Amino acid sequence: MLILMEQTATLEQIRAVMAVLEGAGIRGYVQESPVSTSILAPHASQALKADRIEPMGGVGRVVPITSPFKLASADGAPGRTVVEVRGVAVGAPELAVMAGPCGVESREQLFTVARYVAESGVRLLRAGAFKPRTSPYAFQGMGAEALRLLEEVRREFDLGIVTEATEVETFEEVERTADLVQLGARNMQNFALLKRAGRSEKPVLLKRGPAATLEEWLFAAEYIMSEGNRNVILCERGIRTWSQYARNTLDVSVIPAAKLLTHLPVIADPSHAAGRRDLVIPCARAAVAAGADGLIVETHCKPDQALSDGPQALLPSDFFQMLEQARRIRTVLMEAGPGAL
Ligand code: PEP
Ligand code: MN
Repeated sequence: MLILMEQTATLEQIRAVMAVLEGAGIRGYVQESPVSTSILAPHASQALKADRIEPMGGVGRVVPITSPFKLASADGAPGRTVVEVRGVAVGAPELAVMAGPCGVESREQLFTVARYVAESGVRLLRAGAFKPRTSPYAFQGMGAEALRLLEEVRREFDLGIVTEATEVETFEEVERTADLVQLGARNMQNFALLKRAGRSEKPVLLKRGPAATLEEWLFAAEYIMSEGNRNVILCERGIRTWSQYARNTLDVSVIPAAKLLTHLPVIADPSHAAGRRDLVIPCARAAVAAGADGLIVETHCKPDQALSDGPQALLPSDFFQMLEQARRIRTVLMEAGPGAL
């Protein structure tokens, strides 16, 4: 249930409600919004009747949450969630962009890409230190050395770092460096990793599994959130279908669908969806037009020499073009009013 407190509710009254929930063995989550406070209590209606809570001081209304995703559900929050990543608001009207190479390959490569990413006005740099690869013989990432380079590049260009955690064992190392911890598509149902991310202080970028339904994806978010971490960003990155021209199929319709069902920000990754450079910009445009709150996109200074995902990396000039087009589409939606986002 969602307990909506009155605007005038005092801290003692909020504590009293929390104490009743606790007495019934229910975990409550206090949610502050600029106008009011609410308490989200997943599965509370199984143990407590609304009329036990409703007469309490400071309580406005008790609303049942019918969705199976209690913490991620749109009806469990007072409005849309904005996740802050090193000063960048993801889920706010302005399009949030993360860009960079698939993986950290060398100091020179990382710094060259970071320089033009920073020049573009984008403030979040993506680059994997640990790479989940289909083949065990493919480039697996530079690991700890890459994390050190990412810290250096953050200092040099004042960029936030988006980098992937692939295992529970190395999670701590990655979260120390990352401003946003990415969980990869093929780890979307790695429940131990999701729970570990749920105990992190850092926001999490949760990619949709290549064969996951919207429901499975939202339950994965619920795993993270139920451990305490409420800063989750969802990312559609293409799913496996029988369409074979592109690497994956960008599921454009899942973007507005996810925004209907949850309060979490939803972004898109046109690079892994398309798998080829010439399809990335149109996919990015489609995602933004469908209401994506942001994009995560791969770009490389020398794509033909990239150690992973070179064919889908945008050249610097393509990247600037994509940004310009995506921002203009977002402006059209912003001007169309809040219903368009
Ligand atoms: C990546 O971002 O480089 C990546 C491996 O993405 P995904 O998990 O979506 O395949
Ligand atoms: Mn990649």
